Amino acid sequence: MPEGDPPLTLRDLADIPVSRLRGVGEKKEKALASVGIQTVLDLVQHYPRRHLDRTREARIAELRKGDEATVFGEVRSSSTRQLRGRRTLTEVVIGDGGHQLTLTFFNQRWREKQLQPGMTLMVHGKCDFFRGNRQMTGPVVDLVGDQTGRIIPVYPQSEKSGLLTRDLASFVREALARARIRGFADPLPDDIRSRFGFVTRGAAIEGIHEPETMTQKDEARRRLVFDELLRVQLELVRRKRRIERETAGISHRLEGELVERFHERLPFPLTAAQERAIAEIGADLALERPMHRLLQGDVGSGKTVVAVTALLAAIQGGHQGALMAPTEVLAEQHHLGVTSLLDDLMVPDPTTLMGDRPLRIELLTSRIGAADRRRILADLVIGRVDLVIGTHALIQDRVEYASLGLVVIDEQHRFGVEQRAALRDKGDAAAAPDVLVMTATPIPRTAAMTVYGDLDVSELDELPPGRTPIVTTWARREAEVARVWETVRDEVGAGRQVYVVCPLIGESEALDVSSATETYESLTGGELRDLRVELLHGQMPSTEKAEVMERFRTAATDVLVATTVIEVGVDVPNATVMVVLDADRFGIAQLHQLRGRVGRGATASRCFFVADPTTADGETRLEAIVASTDGFHLAEVDLDLRGEGTIMGERQKGRNDLRLASLVRDREWVGTAREVAVALIDADPELEDHPGLADEIALLLGDDEAEFLLKS
Ligand code: ADP
Ligand code: MG
Repeated sequence: MPEGDPPLTLRDLADIPVSRLRGVGEKKEKALASVGIQTVLDLVQHYPRRHLDRTREARIAELRKGDEATVFGEVRSSSTRQLRGRRTLTEVVIGDGGHQLTLTFFNQRWREKQLQPGMTLMVHGKCDFFRGNRQMTGPVVDLVGDQTGRIIPVYPQSEKSGLLTRDLASFVREALARARIRGFADPLPDDIRSRFGFVTRGAAIEGIHEPETMTQKDEARRRLVFDELLRVQLELVRRKRRIERETAGISHRLEGELVERFHERLPFPLTAAQERAIAEIGADLALERPMHRLLQGDVGSGKTVVAVTALLAAIQGGHQGALMAPTEVLAEQHHLGVTSLLDDLMVPDPTTLMGDRPLRIELLTSRIGAADRRRILADLVIGRVDLVIGTHALIQDRVEYASLGLVVIDEQHRFGVEQRAALRDKGDAAAAPDVLVMTATPIPRTAAMTVYGDLDVSELDELPPGRTPIVTTWARREAEVARVWETVRDEVGAGRQVYVVCPLIGESEALDVSSATETYESLTGGELRDLRVELLHGQMPSTEKAEVMERFRTAATDVLVATTVIEVGVDVPNATVMVVLDADRFGIAQLHQLRGRVGRGATASRCFFVADPTTADGETRLEAIVASTDGFHLAEVDLDLRGEGTIMGERQKGRNDLRLASLVRDREWVGTAREVAVALIDADPELEDHPGLADEIALLLGDDEAEFLLKS
């Protein structure tokens, strides 16, 4: 390479095939390709899975029976014996100083060739004693060879490719040595680098592959993690801003008589969190671009008041609002709730004689008769309906609006992308409606920033005052379970009502139903014999379901035995006990949702999780849910337990540029990357002044990938 060439960019590295490296012949080239490494960029981004600190390795002499340890040693001898049948046993003896350790491998005759006397190995496994000698059966073996550093990178190995961590380390070493001539370009502006005390790109790449200390490795990782997160956020923010520039929306004003009247008649002051969310939403509504915001808040945090405020802002400006729920039962419940909240509210209307007219709210579900339906549809077209409540049927083609200004979607996770897109098309041709998505299943804000890249997030992280906390009990032993049913009978005796949620079988709805039916029969024949118990499950016809719900709502039933159909939203303040059977089969979020069905009135409520978990995860979930009623905290625990895969979706995770970064481990950096991205894009929308960053994004986050991030 001629002297004076500019530093290497990632694109430069992507243009160099690995075959250009010394030691990479045809065979290794194939092997590397089989693990996705074709270019020098692929190679330097093939990060070590872990790093071994040789100062912490165990000495063979120290190993006791049962110890799981990492040991370095030199191969002394290896041999293979034929066992009965066609089995073979290969024994490799390694030593450090005067002590020896025997490694045994079954049916791995090739080990004899692989591990030849004189080689240095790192082995990891469990120490055992056999006839007085230390031994490890089937340990993990890395040929560290002549890697002399104190810190040894361990690369992901693949038996199939035949590549050893030693090979990878030597290719990387070669690549880095060659790159050192020109050095690595650093696309991150200096001021950002120094603000966070990051090492340079070059130091980071070297530091992750060939650190001299663990601290150096950590610093390197921190920088590379930030780079990955920043690229994703830059792309998300850039696209978001583009959409905002290109889609016209309606400017709504929060200030106005209708919103004022509504707030004045509320029997309680807003919580600080509600005020904050309303202000955030108000600022979005005022802009002439469509809002796209997520409102996260625990059950009972008062999302409805916030949503209704936004809807009224649209209505007072002469537009219409739509409120969509995931099920008809929930739509009906919203209709009841919102109607009573807005009972007799008058809309200021200078064109009428009195200067006022009643607010018109309509429910539109499949249970609305044909004639009513026709009338509602006709009135929606001419703008005579202010607010319509329903399910996703509200965005069917047949529903037309005079001027749809705001759509509120409750329980976002039940709605797909297509429906969201369809909604946008419902607005005037000229302007798209604003969209507010509400969820009572919060996901950590930092995860939301990546998963819902195009949504802004508001949070209600505070419950209205005066709530009596729900007492949660984990009933595990028989005696404890017996006490649960005792409590149920006592509460019913005191005039309260109870939910019993049945085991989730999961394999099919039919199984869930039969489990619910069984539970119902055993309870009515046993523990709850004299009580008025009814069964509710997903396969009942919807009219029947509604009747059962209605009887429960009006307290004609004491106990509702149900499958998870009650998971979302039913609101019966007199129900004060929730019993979840086989609770270890549910996820944390689901358990939290179920618990939220009680504690809606003034009386103290109780929640019982009946479970004798068979897995460690089940145990941890129950411990967590019993210990906290804070949905945001539980969301963090859930993310820790399940990892980001469940949030991002396997496909999404597999494709994205997050190789080192973890939404769990690096969560605080997500927020930082978002902030930095917003500042950069707002100053330079298409990154024209940062061609290095723009180029890396183009290189590493193809169009498909960015689409994906936006689509979750
Ligand atoms: P969410 O939809 O977030 O689960 P809701 O909007 O249904 O919660 O509100 C739960 C209950 O709290 C309702 O009965 C509502 O009237 C009441 N509520 C809402 N905001 C407040 C407040 N600021 N102070 C007291 N009660 C409130
Ligand atoms: Mg709600």
